[in-house]
Amino acid sequence: MRSALLAILLGVAACAPSNGDAFSSATAQTPTPVQSGEGWGAHGIGDTDFPLDGNGGYDISRYHLKIGYDPATKHLTGLASIEAAATQPLRRFNLDLSGLQVSEVSVAGRPATFARSGDELSVTPAEPLAKGGSFTVTVAYAGTPQPVKDSSNLGTYGFIPTADGAFVTCEPNGAKTWFPANDHPADKARFDFELTVPQGLTALANGELTKKPVTSGGRTTFSWSERHPMVTYLATMTLGKFELREGRTTKGVPNLAAADPKYRATLNGLYTTSGEVTDYWTTVFGPYPFSSTGGVVDDFPAGYALENQTKPMYGGFQPDEAIIAHELAHQWFGNSLSIKRWKDLWLNEGFATYAEWLWSEHKGRASAQTLFDNYYARQPSDAVWAYPPGRAQPRDLFNESVYTRGAMTLHALRKHIGDATFFTLLKTWANDHKYGHVTTPEFIALAEKLSGKELDQFFDAWLFDKGKPAL
Ligand SMILES: [Zn+2]
Repeated sequence: MRSALLAILLGVAACAPSNGDAFSSATAQTPTPVQSGEGWGAHGIGDTDFPLDGNGGYDISRYHLKIGYDPATKHLTGLASIEAAATQPLRRFNLDLSGLQVSEVSVAGRPATFARSGDELSVTPAEPLAKGGSFTVTVAYAGTPQPVKDSSNLGTYGFIPTADGAFVTCEPNGAKTWFPANDHPADKARFDFELTVPQGLTALANGELTKKPVTSGGRTTFSWSERHPMVTYLATMTLGKFELREGRTTKGVPNLAAADPKYRATLNGLYTTSGEVTDYWTTVFGPYPFSSTGGVVDDFPAGYALENQTKPMYGGFQPDEAIIAHELAHQWFGNSLSIKRWKDLWLNEGFATYAEWLWSEHKGRASAQTLFDNYYARQPSDAVWAYPPGRAQPRDLFNESVYTRGAMTLHALRKHIGDATFFTLLKTWANDHKYGHVTTPEFIALAEKLSGKELDQFFDAWLFDKGKPAL
């Protein structure tokens, strides 16, 4: 994720957009008293910063989401078939779902009983599930999706209705606004989408189309499949009027750019730059981890971009090269490699921000060193020094330190261990954890192994200690 404002205000202090609203429950989580007992899956996945996000007791391998949406009525109907395996004996388990009415739930083909409490949907199968057993839970639901409007620096996210459709960007926990989910990055899964919208509109999801769109009775169904593991916040079903340009990058990666007609003039630039950036990152980070690349410019004025897997979303602005470089770097760092806990967010945002600096350097503009020096010169009271970036703050997750001081950490590391080792480290990190999960201690351990240096003090100063690190 990246604020578009950041690009405009580069060099200016704190710039996190805030809309001042505070009527959502999505991040202001007060754990409700939930009964527990033997065989009951936990109502959170174990991230103490977001205690109700995700759930315990099972692991999802695939979501099949059959969803219809009508922009005129803002009505959504959904049928989610979710394949999972029990990681403990389960008499009951939870999914995350915000708003929307559930009409029917079944487990292993048999009707199950269910209950709602806040954003938790608890499901009691007809028969208890054995540890290690795989099962499919099917949830039929409908209603008017409500996006999350957060009071801190997140702005509006989740399923956001637009004039001609919807803009769907869900970091950190907005997937539950449109489908029942284990809504935390610690549980990755494959996704199939069958999206039905009024004829004339395009529904865009992650991955690739598995067949030509089918129109019948004035409605068109788009079938997309993301064949690689994906976290829930990267799933999308952005829809509306779109102009498309399709092809391949110079190195052969399928490339799809889409722009709302209002942003028609950006389509060719988006397509060309996305292709060029994707190909360049393969030389810096290693092979592209997914089966297609591209990007989508919609007219909803989100003021930010999100790195939705294979299709970054740009909300209401013309993306420049830097932000495209940022979102496509996330395909390696954040998407292929995912964090287990939100406190490690710098592993996504520090890397993607440093990628902007690498892109600038690659294009012969300001070098990473110059950019580092500019930020380092900021006053001790500046937002960039407000927190140590190695521990993201749950109520200020996307703060500037996580981004900029995270990037500065990587540049300082590059200077400390040398270019050859540093760039080997980036490729090794991306390769060793492809499609998996990562933690900060694992990154530090790999940096120490490849450099042969003891780096605890270095990383403490840059990631965990308060104040401006000494050079
Ligand atoms: Zn980002």
